[in-house]
Amino acid sequence: MFFAIQVIFAQSYKKLHNKAIVVDTHNDILETCFNKGYSFDQDLKGKTHSDLQRFKEGGIDVQIFSVWCDGNQKNPFAYANRMIDTLYATALRHPDKINIVFASRDLLKTVQKKKLAAMIGVEGGHMIENDLKNLDKLYNRGARYMTLTWNNSTPWATSALKETKDSLHHQPNGLNDFGRTIVKRMNELGMLLDLSHVGEQTFWDAINTTTKPILVSHSCVYSLCATFRNLKDEQIKAVGKNGGVIHLNFYSGFLDSTYERKDAAFNKKHKAERDSLLKANPEPYFASEFLYAKYKDEVQAMKAPFHLLFDHLDYIVKLIGVDHVGFGSDYDGINSTPHHLDTVVDYPLITKELLARGYSNKNIRKILGGNFLRLLKANEK
Ligand SMILES: [Zn+2]
Repeated sequence: MFFAIQVIFAQSYKKLHNKAIVVDTHNDILETCFNKGYSFDQDLKGKTHSDLQRFKEGGIDVQIFSVWCDGNQKNPFAYANRMIDTLYATALRHPDKINIVFASRDLLKTVQKKKLAAMIGVEGGHMIENDLKNLDKLYNRGARYMTLTWNNSTPWATSALKETKDSLHHQPNGLNDFGRTIVKRMNELGMLLDLSHVGEQTFWDAINTTTKPILVSHSCVYSLCATFRNLKDEQIKAVGKNGGVIHLNFYSGFLDSTYERKDAAFNKKHKAERDSLLKANPEPYFASEFLYAKYKDEVQAMKAPFHLLFDHLDYIVKLIGVDHVGFGSDYDGINSTPHHLDTVVDYPLITKELLARGYSNKNIRKILGGNFLRLLKANEK
């Protein structure tokens, strides 16, 4: 009897997952491919978190591909365009499997045809190089969200990292007048404002300037894990009021409050090697990526427990309701995922857990993608 119930449950969660429109608002496979000379239409199993075939296996219908470079990049606008070129080239090779979509109508048509709807999110305002024309150009190439800052500030917006951790940072916190002009232009274009990565003051300035609901593409809850770029309760409540949607990041370090301590111990243990890597590239992600790949067993032991992702979700739902939450995994942009969520193919386990936590089918469809679709439509002209 117990076994029979288990089988029915297994079928029902998979069926629900496959029928729902599943949207992931943040994936860095483009950057990983760019750096390593891969293309995501290749079989990248064992090398990356995602590839074209595995998006399908994970039941992902809509993937927003992050276009990103760090703040040291000399020609960030050209770099962004190069990354967009690679997405276009991949999509052109497989018109039967993936289409780049610009609007909710194309998105729905593409999903109906059982193809991956690919969207573009620009992660970091530095990529427009302080020029509104570049914002328009990226929009015209399909960019449908822009994260106002990455970890680096722009001259017009301060980042969470700079606002909290940089003692040499002298720029006033928040958006300046040009920053507000950019927000207004994004509203006019119908480009979603993404407030992941931004400093608290920039968050408040942006949410008080925008006339449209905002996106948080890949962040978690500060009350459960107090890291510099998770959202505090007052921010979460403001997203609820604004009609926006917070998409949860799968990074162990944003989910698990014990992770930072474990990661610090790992870095201490491998200090000599890390210091030498930091001399080659001062961005900490570079050294971490190398060391994490080398010491896989130690890294495996540091992974966040699976349940924490859903504890963050429940927390937001309790605070502002089920209409304001979704997932933005950050796959291929993070070096530690929770247990059982190793790659994109594990996505159906999310639906299984949501059912187990008592969410209705209707609410699960909202969380998986319905909330994002509402947000996209609300931003379209
Ligand atoms: Zn990010």
